[in-house]
Amino acid sequence: MADAQEHVAETFAFSADISQLLSLIINTFYSNKEIFLRELISNSSDALDKIRYQSLTDPSVLDSEPALEIRIIPDKANNTLTIEDTGIGMTKADLVNNLGTIAKSGTKAFMEALQAGADISMIGQFGVGFYSAYLVADKVTVASKHNDDEQYVWESAAGGSFTVTADTSGKPLGRGTRITLFMKEDMTEFLEERRIKDLVKKHSEFIGFPVKLSVEKTSEKEVTDDEAEEEADEDKPKVEDVEEESKEKKTKKIKEVTHEWEHLNQQKPIWMRKPDEVTHDEYVAFYKSLTNDWEDYAAVKHFSVEGQLEFRSVLFVPKRAPFDMFEGGTKKKYNNIKLYVRRVFIMDNCEELMPEYLQFVKGVVDSEDLPLNISRESLQQNKILRVIRKNLVKKSIELFNELAEDAEKYKKFYESFAKNIKLGIHEDSTNRAKLAKLLRFYSTKSGEEMTSLDDYVSRMGEAQAGIYYVTGESKKAVENSPFLEKLKKKGYEVLFMVDPIDEYAVQQLKEYEGKKLICATKEGLALGESEDEKKTLEEMKAKGEALCKLMKEVLDDKVDKVVVSNRLADSPCVLVTGEYGWSANMERIMKAQALRDSSSASYMTSKKSMEINLANPIIAALREKAEADQGDKTVKDLIWLLYDTSLLTSGFSLDEPTTFAGRIHRLIKLGLSIDDDDEGGEEADEELPPLEGGEMDEGESTMEQVD
Ligand code: ADP
Repeated sequence: MADAQEHVAETFAFSADISQLLSLIINTFYSNKEIFLRELISNSSDALDKIRYQSLTDPSVLDSEPALEIRIIPDKANNTLTIEDTGIGMTKADLVNNLGTIAKSGTKAFMEALQAGADISMIGQFGVGFYSAYLVADKVTVASKHNDDEQYVWESAAGGSFTVTADTSGKPLGRGTRITLFMKEDMTEFLEERRIKDLVKKHSEFIGFPVKLSVEKTSEKEVTDDEAEEEADEDKPKVEDVEEESKEKKTKKIKEVTHEWEHLNQQKPIWMRKPDEVTHDEYVAFYKSLTNDWEDYAAVKHFSVEGQLEFRSVLFVPKRAPFDMFEGGTKKKYNNIKLYVRRVFIMDNCEELMPEYLQFVKGVVDSEDLPLNISRESLQQNKILRVIRKNLVKKSIELFNELAEDAEKYKKFYESFAKNIKLGIHEDSTNRAKLAKLLRFYSTKSGEEMTSLDDYVSRMGEAQAGIYYVTGESKKAVENSPFLEKLKKKGYEVLFMVDPIDEYAVQQLKEYEGKKLICATKEGLALGESEDEKKTLEEMKAKGEALCKLMKEVLDDKVDKVVVSNRLADSPCVLVTGEYGWSANMERIMKAQALRDSSSASYMTSKKSMEINLANPIIAALREKAEADQGDKTVKDLIWLLYDTSLLTSGFSLDEPTTFAGRIHRLIKLGLSIDDDDEGGEEADEELPPLEGGEMDEGESTMEQVD
């Protein structure tokens, strides 16, 4: 009879790859066995997604079983764990093809990955998650009912083959799949209610279908003897005698054991809810579970994107930066954005979802469009992911702008993440202008509070050529810099950029809202001079030409050129760098890096030009002296001293500190001897005698005489 034939088990051989994978799973020690539950629940969730999707166009597909859910049934008596779903189910052909005969490209890839040290928990990413059942079970049966076929049961204890049989004796499934794991002897922990609950909470909390656990409930019930006997006969529910005589009629108290379904993932995923229905406390709880942070978050953004592509996301800004955020070397894995695809958790730290500078933003993304079995490799080329990333960056920047509305909060944020914003300005040309809005600096007019570029621009006068800034080691080091003299006099605000990364950021930024960013320490400083000022400068240049020429001769290749300055008001001179070359500050940073790396001690030195201020009495006197006698040795020595002091005031370091110190010491001695002769006063500097060796000795003896 044909009917009898169908009840005979058909045996199939696993494909070679799968066979190999199974023996690897069974014979290798893996500590992370618990992931099997996540994989099976995830498969169930997929199957439910498929039938739900079909029902969108044909609601009758749900008639066979209206509920859409996942059930977990531990059975200690039989040592089995059953995972049941009312998903799409599998036909006989599906069982044969999907669970063993059709080789998948992921099988080999996963085995290679395992050999290369991948964790077993990555199995799902390779599309072979089902086989993780053999981490905990030595035999597995899969009963399944598809709308287009009868119920069949797949069975295998690995060992190279499986059977598929028409399932007439098993409990009928309206529709869906029932996977029964015959647990290995030492895996009974997975039958414990507590353990299962914890695992579901840990790995599958955000599954979009109810996950229900069959739990035992024991209650006491008072029954007459007769009833007790009756019920005992039926063998269901189980009855234990609790001997107790009572009143007129003989009654017994019995313990009744029933099974109830406990819904384990009650909470709808937070991102699936409407933002205005989620409380602050709920966001905090979610943030903490996501990040293991012990503190509250600083800001949250919960949004969805619809249209060509659909996803939902919740993004958080933490209060603090991780302590090792910018530690270079090996690439750190951050727990930043968790990727879900249709409520199924895909992976932590999806690096493709955020650019490096936004690695501090935490959250989840749940995409409706990505394939569930997406692998890390394919993520890199994925177009959908690129669009999601673009949106996440946009939303993150919006979130920072929202934070900026509260000055106190923003100050804290900026202390923690200013470097990230600046790195973003350096790297992210698309969002550069938006990120620049988030910048804050101290300035010549900011006082104790930092200023934004917008505020700066609002204070700019008509004539101002651009946004002036000075870079340097610290606020203290730059606020009285000679470079700012004329700018301050003219009432122009100057930003202090004193974070090393500012140098890099400002190089890329170049302008803000159409206003050029102008470095106060670089050549050709545009000051927006009036015609009169220009004329005076021209006259000065002519007047100073000879001295400039002489100074260049003396300093030789230490400077590129010597010119009359437009930026100085009081100081005698400064050293400026080329517009496109390194600033003094950059030179300092690079030196520090070269020293730290030690690999390359070489760094470029900035090209320097000296600018002199003819209005300064020292320069004025020097000019007269030089004009009187080109060969005056004092002049030469003074030029060197001016050069050395300019190095310092311009933010460079001294090449030869001892030579410099030698010159200063001679000056001190001289100063003291002049003092002795009662010709003291600062102006005496202008009348320095030649600082030749012999005369120094004289100076020293003078000092001795003083003593
Ligand atoms: P993946 O789920 O990544 O494709 P698996 O090895 O976990 O890889 O599963 C193999 C295939 O078996 C699935 O693609 C699916 O077609 C089928 N399958 C597994 N579990 C179920 C289930 N609970 N219901 C329906 N089909 C399933």
